[in-house]
Amino acid sequence: MAATPGLLDSTEMAQILHGMPVQTHILSQLKPRIQRLSRPPGLAVVLVGHNPASEIYVRSKIKACAELGIFSERLTPPDSITTGKLIAGIDELNHRADIDGILVQMPLPKHVDARAVLEAVSADKDADGFHPLNVGYLVAGRLAPRSCTPAGIIELFKHYKIAIEGRHAVVLGRSDIVGKPMALMLLHKNATVTICHSRTVDLAAECRRADILVAAIGRPAFVTGEFIAPGATVIDVGINRITDREQAVQLGRADEFDSKGKAVVGDVHPLDVARLAGAYTPVPGGVGPLTIAMLMANTVALAERHTCSA
Ligand code: NAP
Repeated sequence: MAATPGLLDSTEMAQILHGMPVQTHILSQLKPRIQRLSRPPGLAVVLVGHNPASEIYVRSKIKACAELGIFSERLTPPDSITTGKLIAGIDELNHRADIDGILVQMPLPKHVDARAVLEAVSADKDADGFHPLNVGYLVAGRLAPRSCTPAGIIELFKHYKIAIEGRHAVVLGRSDIVGKPMALMLLHKNATVTICHSRTVDLAAECRRADILVAAIGRPAFVTGEFIAPGATVIDVGINRITDREQAVQLGRADEFDSKGKAVVGDVHPLDVARLAGAYTPVPGGVGPLTIAMLMANTVALAERHTCSA
């Protein structure tokens, strides 16, 4: 059922936009495309040092590759690696015929020039869609690898048949990875887009004008009821770990906290959004699965460019 912003009365339940069915659908469409290739697609994942969260993300990306029949290679240089050596390693990958996509897991150690490293990845192997050339293609509305999280959110809208055209979309956050590409993708789908950030005046009032609100700021449960118009579609990109039991209780996550010693919440208040929105993504289980699906999609699309189909 498509959400109809502004038309819900207080007795209607919000639609929960789960990410897993969308992920399953995207991956099932990739399988026949992989089978038509003359060799398996190849993804290189560069994981510098030992960041526990990054290790978890990389593990799930490699697992997704294995399940789909994508060849993957994990490179794990030490924390002490220099920018120069990292770029030299990436350049080797740029020249390998069996590697179609390269992903450098962020964050990198502070002494490494992250921008130089990301720009060292060939635009033609840019599985994350972060290369300036591909960002330029996004601005121009041309086909190219796109940043995975916002691209996945567009797929979510398609899957749940939520209209974008003509709607007022507010994107909260302006990072290069999520906020800016999200705003551009919504614009290309004919939304009227407002981008908000830390210097926006009267943030809650701006957000309350949204038919579609995308929150990507990295602040636990920051978006409360006063930010959400009744019936709006709310997409919560945030992943925040809570270690204070009192806060977990207030956010309705006491059980999770008591069993795990922590709770994961998004940027949107989970109780307020369930009460007010017409449709919303849960955390976890909303946007997260889409990011991996779109990484696989970018890798397959790059492999199609690099190989001939059987
Ligand atoms: P980021 O690079 O830290 O950018 C945060 C943005 O939010 C900035 O534009 C910042 O504004 C804005 N912001 C921060 N505090 C604010 C406030 N109090 N009021 C208004 N704006 C504020 O973050 P990101 O990489 O976009 O990630 C955002 C969140 O999404 C994080 O929780 C991250 O873990 C999560 N994430 C999830 C996925 C997924 O797959 N689910 C993928 C990527 C990211 P300024 O520009 O003015 O500083």
